[in-house]
Amino acid sequence: MTAPAEPSRPLVVAVIGAGPSGIYAAEALTVQARLPVEVAVIDRLPVPFGLVRYGVAPDHHAIRSIRHTLERTLDRPGVSFYGDVTIGRDLSIAELRGCVDAVVYAYGAGADRRLDIPGEDLPGSLAGPELVAWYCGHPDVHPDAHTSGPADSTYESDRGRVVVRLVNQASSAVVVGVGNVALDVARVLVKTADELADTDMAVEVLESLGAKQITDVHILGRRGPAYTAFTTKELRELGQLPDLDLVVHAPDLDLDPSSLAAVASDKVAARNVAVLREWATRPPSGASRRIHLHFWVRPVEVVGPERVTGIRLERTAISPDGYLVGTGETSVLAAELVVRSVGYRGVALPGAPYDESTGRVPHAEGRVIRDGDISADEYVTGWIKRGPTGVIGTNKSDAVETVASLLADVDAGALVPAGRSGALDRLLADRGISALDLAAWRRIDAAEVQLGLRHGRLRSTLAHRIELLAAAAEPTCQTPDTL
Ligand code: NAP
Repeated sequence: MTAPAEPSRPLVVAVIGAGPSGIYAAEALTVQARLPVEVAVIDRLPVPFGLVRYGVAPDHHAIRSIRHTLERTLDRPGVSFYGDVTIGRDLSIAELRGCVDAVVYAYGAGADRRLDIPGEDLPGSLAGPELVAWYCGHPDVHPDAHTSGPADSTYESDRGRVVVRLVNQASSAVVVGVGNVALDVARVLVKTADELADTDMAVEVLESLGAKQITDVHILGRRGPAYTAFTTKELRELGQLPDLDLVVHAPDLDLDPSSLAAVASDKVAARNVAVLREWATRPPSGASRRIHLHFWVRPVEVVGPERVTGIRLERTAISPDGYLVGTGETSVLAAELVVRSVGYRGVALPGAPYDESTGRVPHAEGRVIRDGDISADEYVTGWIKRGPTGVIGTNKSDAVETVASLLADVDAGALVPAGRSGALDRLLADRGISALDLAAWRRIDAAEVQLGLRHGRLRSTLAHRIELLAAAAEPTCQTPDTL
């Protein structure tokens, strides 16, 4: 048996996606001392941090502060950030693989799941991830002025304007799904702009929310209270909002035998049911806003002649053989806004392996499977590996597993550093592509803090790509002529 090669040249790894999963992979690659590694963390957006910036609710300050830890990883020796570079457009996967030793796919789950019911695309029906992207100031939902219509138009390609209009025309909203995103959406929809002023929301988002009239938000669970996907801390948070009544229909909380078994075997389910039961005992206080939690109902149609006026629901039950079934009993819940918050879905990256049936990159312990075989230089981590589940920290253990596979492959001689340092930079330079580095992010960071201070806040997110690029630009030396 031959001993594993002693690599003297650094292993060059490109991580596609600068969200938590990609940055945790960069961390796992560079905290080990077995071999030198250079990591390029590439993102199509001008800024790093993925869902920590564009998914975690703006009022969840502690979770958003994970950004600082992620930023320290981007600053580690051997790690470089390449923002504003789109793999699949600026460079193909094949070109990228040609200039690094290994690629790690960490590009997340960029699409939303659908309900596949009539009326789902009526004006007034929105995907939860789109609403989240809007209130977090994502450039995809805040296009630059020149890419959308004139300010007074109803040009539908500016999804940000569409979202503002829909939110501001509603007094009652329905959120389909009982996961943590549904809780985030419900909170943001009932909170006033004043209550959100201590967040880093973009100025235009906060101003838009100031015109909101929503008093009632209905959260719908297609199964019973023992089957929610909430984490209990996030659920309890709703109960702490001032001037808000939580409306839970007590009979919905009766547990059938399968629910009793779920509660007995799952501590989170038991805690969530206990929280809901306590809320069901609270008499209404006459608060000015309400969040209603409904269980055992599934949406069968989004209703409205031209725009949403309500949602038709069917009562559900668990059949004797354990399946969720409709009872045939339907009713219409009036609402002007329907937000489907039923999860995310991974999408294909051109040139990368992808399994349409799962919405993920196929893999074995993080090693990508291409055309039925393990690929020698491709790895995967995060939501595009395991699906859109878990909390931010789940991505850390996930990345550790993937990087352990990668390092084992180096030890086994299956992945060999080929002296590719600098090849990615040369390729980008040849193409005339200027990636944004960590220093550029720090200029954006400083600009967001400055903008926030001007509005009496700690920071304000720059929502448009054009604003991010302007803030990222290095200051030019001013000569007396230009002063
Ligand atoms: P999720 O946790 O998967 O929840 C999706 C919900 O949608 C489930 O209640 C599911 O019910 C329901 N659903 C799915 N299809 C449906 C349909 N056709 N009709 C009605 N209901 C349907 O997804 P998520 O809320 O988007 O969250 C994604 C991930 O991000 C989760 O891991 C979540 O914990 C995490 N996250 C965490 C935080 C936090 O920690 N603060 C915040 C936001 C997100 P069934 O169970 O019946 O399928």
